[in-house]
Parts: sequence; C-alpha cells; structure tokens
Amino acid sequence: MSQTLQAVRGMNDILPDEAEVWEHFEDLVRDWLRSYGYRPIRMPIVEPTPLFKRAIGEVTDIVEKEMYSFEDALNGEHLTLRPEGTASCVRAAIQHKMLFAGGQRLYYQGPMFRHERPQKGRYRQFHQIGVEALGFSGPDIDAELILMCARLWDDLGLEDVRLELNSLGSADERARHRADLITYLEGHQAILDDDARRRLYSNPLRILDTKNPDLQEMVEKAPRLVDYLGADSVAHFEGVQAILRDAGIPYRINPRLVRGLDYYNRTVFEWVTNRLGAQGTVCAGGRYDGLVELLGGKAAPAAGFAMGVERLLALWHESGGQAEQVQPDVYVVHAGELAQRFAFRAAEALRGYGFAVLTHCGGGSFKSQMKKADASGAQLAVVIGDDEAAAGLVGLKPLRGPGAQQQITLDQLSEAVAACLYPEEGDEYGSL
Ligand code: ATP
Ligand code: MG
Repeated sequence: MSQTLQAVRGMNDILPDEAEVWEHFEDLVRDWLRSYGYRPIRMPIVEPTPLFKRAIGEVTDIVEKEMYSFEDALNGEHLTLRPEGTASCVRAAIQHKMLFAGGQRLYYQGPMFRHERPQKGRYRQFHQIGVEALGFSGPDIDAELILMCARLWDDLGLEDVRLELNSLGSADERARHRADLITYLEGHQAILDDDARRRLYSNPLRILDTKNPDLQEMVEKAPRLVDYLGADSVAHFEGVQAILRDAGIPYRINPRLVRGLDYYNRTVFEWVTNRLGAQGTVCAGGRYDGLVELLGGKAAPAAGFAMGVERLLALWHESGGQAEQVQPDVYVVHAGELAQRFAFRAAEALRGYGFAVLTHCGGGSFKSQMKKADASGAQLAVVIGDDEAAAGLVGLKPLRGPGAQQQITLDQLSEAVAACLYPEEGDEYGSL
C-alpha cells in the first residue's frame, strides 16, 4: 500500500466543525469593519519577491528566514507566497492610484505563509485580518484603529487582552537613539547571540525585540527610544493617548515594543494575552509613514494592524465563545420514484422561500431516513411517499416538539413550515 499523503507541516486543514466557527467569525468581522467604514480589498497570494524584501527589510526574521520563495519555472521570475498583507495592500493602492482619491480605509483577510517552527499558535500557513488606513497622518486614525480592536474584543467577549503601546518616533529620532543603542550593545558584545551580533550594525533596534531569555535583562536596560522623541512625535503620541483615555481603554507603554517589521514609525501597538502561552500576541500594528514612498508611490502617511485569526479563535474558545450550530430547517425524506421527484420540487420550493433544506440522498427505508432526519438537527421533516406525490401532497412532521404530522399541498408547504418555525409571527404569515 502506498503511504498516505499528509498536509504540509504547519499548514492546517480546517474541518467543517471548526470551519463553521471561522465563517461565523468572518461574518462578525465583516459587520464590524463596515461599522467603521473600512472597505475590502483582495490582493494576490503570490507577489514578486523584491516587494517583501524592500517593504519588510532585508534584515528581518521574515525576509532572512521565513519566506516561501521560488523561481517561476516558466519565466524565471522571483516570487514569494505573501508572509503578510501590508506590502501587497500598499503596492495595490499605488498601482491603482487609489491614494489620489484621498484617504482610504481598507481591509483584507486570508492566508499568509512563513517558514517558522510550527507550534501552538504558530503555523506556516496562518490567517490574518489586516486593516490599513492609507493617507491619514493624525493621531486620530491611530486611535481609531486601536478603538476598533477594543470593540471587536468586546463583540467577541474576549477576556484578558491588554494593549501595549509605544512610539518609534521619526527617522531622525531613531537615528540618534540608534547611535546610543549601538554603543550600549557594543558594551555587551560578549553576551550577544548570533542574531544580535549580526544585527548590531544593520538593525540594532530589532535586537530589543529578541525572544532570547538570556538577553532580556540586558535589553531591559538599553536606551529607550521614547526618551529620544522630539516635540512633534511626543504631541502625536499624546494625541493618541488622549483619545484612548477618553474612550476608557487601558494601556501600558512598553518601551521595548519595536515590532518585527522595518516599516513602522511613531505609534506601534500590540494586543497581548497571557491565556495562549508563548504565542500571546493576537494583534499588532502601528504607523508606517514611509512605506508608500519606499514602494514607489507619492509620499503618503499610513497606519494599520493585522490580527492572527488562529490565535484570536483560540482565545475566543478559551473565553467560552461558541458559534451557533449550523443546522437545516427541514429534512426531506421520500420513498419511491415519483416521491423522489416530488421531494426535489418540495425542497427547491422551500429554498426559494429562504429555508435551509437537506434532501435525503442515497435511498433507504423511511425508518432509516427518519433517523438521519433526526440526527441532522432539522426542526421539521417533510415526508413524501409515492401515494402522496401522486396526489400532490406532502407530510410535514415536527421533529423536536409535540404536534402531529400534517398532510398539505405543495403550495401550502412554505407557509406551513414558516408557521412551525416561527409560531410567534403567525399573524404575519396568516393562519392555515
Ligand atoms: P511573532 O512575534 O509572534 O512572531 P510577528 O511580529 O511576526 O509575531 P506580525 O507580523 O506582526 O507578527 O503579524 C501580526 C499577527 O499575526 C501576530 O500578532 C500574530 O497574531 C499573527 N501571526 C504572526 N505569525 C504567525 C504564525 N506563524 N502563526 C500564527 N499566527 C501568526
Ligand atoms: Mg514572527
């Protein structure tokens, strides 16, 4: 026997029970995004490799070791499965001249790919919901982005998600901080790990983001970027915080929060929980005013965030969240050739009314079909034999509550089903 094939390590199948939860979540997320005026955008999953190298930065975990890159066998183009969405979203906005029309509030969702060590909350194919506000420079939009996250946590009933906030200032401010930081890190050369040593001169800020426990103490005492902010950056950061305070959203300023990606400036934030073990960041974002120009567009400010869907759903389960079970309203059982044809007509008539209907397929006795009807979770069974079909009649049988089977015509069926499912609205449907 040949070996059974398995999914790629770190890439998950999402089976129906869980996929229904995802769909429920996605519905909720769509309503939430609309309520803030964000509009959908869909970008390709594959992009030219240079897009990510330029946008995310050569000296980052993602570009150095996490990208799925390959050469197109037909034309030799260098391509990459997107590891995140911001670069593609900004590329699309530039390519389609969207920013000439003013500020754009956009969102996207879908799979992202990173070659990481798979573990709980960390996968090689994972999903993000990304939100980008392009063309807005003020602290108001940064605050809006944070407020909308808080509302989603509330809508989902998530517990124990806290906000960490920092400002990365401007390029000049970072340059001054960087010089002092390098001097400080040079003083601790001996304990730096390989990553840190490599980044010492190319990307020292990133060393503050290290996950190596041996470096934590040294990193805690490093010069803090917040102490280097000029008046404009301080005012911007204050502006964000004032709106958060007004909205009653608690936060902690975390001077070590620098984010894993190169393109951030000013406000950066993460939403973190202790309930998911090591992979506790459910959402991360901030301002990235330089990216549009870096990718060849006319300079425009921007801010955004991305949430990890797997982590959010894990936290949602953890907080007792449950999606409504998806069940049919009606299960149609039938025996006989004429009955089967009539069953299809009955089912389509009901669907035309908006009911969810499972038509029994695969034959079997009435008894075994009724068992399936019961197990389906449907409230009602429509029962059709050849005799009924010949007379243009169907049986309607409640599966959950009391009540006898009624014999009715096909024309009466949809209203009879409505009356059974929504008895309190009986007047609206008229009595039968
Ligand atoms: P981490 O520090 O956990 O590696 P990151 O800084 O690389 O996160 P971002 O690039 O900011 O993550 O992505 C935004 C969000 O996407 C993260 O906060 C997380 O919720 C989710 N995420 C990132 N990488 C993964 C992954 N490999 N598997 C599952 N979710 C992920
Ligand atoms: Mg990462």
